Amino acid sequence: MRDKIDGMPAALSPTPRSTIRKSARARSERAALYEVLDAALIAHLGVIVDGAPLVLPTTFGRIGDTVYVHGSTGALSLRAGTREPVCLTVTLLDGLVYARSVFHHSANYRSAVLHAQARLVTDPQEKLDSLQAVVEHLTPGSWAHARQPTAKELAATTVLAIDTAEASVKVRSGPPVDDQSDLDAATAWAGVLPLHQRWGPPQPCALLPEGSVVPAHVTERPSPG
Ligand SMILES: Cc1cc2nc3c(=O)[nH]c(=O)nc-3n(C[C@H](O)[C@H](O)[C@H](O)COP(=O)(O)OP(=O)(O)OC[C@H]3O[C@@H](n4cnc5c(N)ncnc54)[C@H](O)[C@@H]3O)c2cc1C
Repeated sequence: MRDKIDGMPAALSPTPRSTIRKSARARSERAALYEVLDAALIAHLGVIVDGAPLVLPTTFGRIGDTVYVHGSTGALSLRAGTREPVCLTVTLLDGLVYARSVFHHSANYRSAVLHAQARLVTDPQEKLDSLQAVVEHLTPGSWAHARQPTAKELAATTVLAIDTAEASVKVRSGPPVDDQSDLDAATAWAGVLPLHQRWGPPQPCALLPEGSVVPAHVTERPSPG
């Protein structure tokens, strides 16, 4: 394993709050964290609002060791995110695990959790770069293809930077883990139903000029798998 990735230790260094109890499913490499983050299209941002947890889905982007989330300057969650620690989770569902008992039914997945104090992005260049990262993470090729943000749009947008210093990665894969008594009884079907995500055909906006061609960054986008 390399010593550093993006200037950060190549091994994740969890604190007690980010240490996975079931350690056999924990991944300790920063590369695994980046793999999960880069494969996920959305994240869930957990913040504390008026003393209660609020967890909202959001798009995100990554530049090196920092994850960025963005939204309206009016967004409650983003305002709260600068005041108290945040938790950002990404989840990739890879399959459903059918066991011989309902107790042992499970899911195959890759997931990552970041614990951090988010930072409001105020530097104009970092803000632009982070918005590009968010757009390119969700829709690669769009930053160059579509119109760039205006000063007014930038002013209406809040960006939070969430560092990946304290992170955990958990992965479950493989068949069900059944009790021996259920294996012996062999009464129910058991196995894995893999889940694959596929893009459908592009649906051009009805307001496009006639004859508009769907660009390659849309038609040739690989499915997430
Ligand atoms: C799609 C999916 C479905 C799941 N379904 C279930 C379910 O039905 N029942 C169930 O018990 N568990 C389920 N899990 C696992 C669940 O996310 C927790 O890992 C598990 O419940 C252990 O919780 P805990 O409070 O003991 O966590 P602990 O291991 O005690 O959590 C300590 C720290 O470990 C890290 N951590 C914990 N879980 C994860 C994770 N999933 N990914 C990354 N870091 C993590 C966090 O940093 C957390 O603060 C599911 C996970 C996924 C991705």
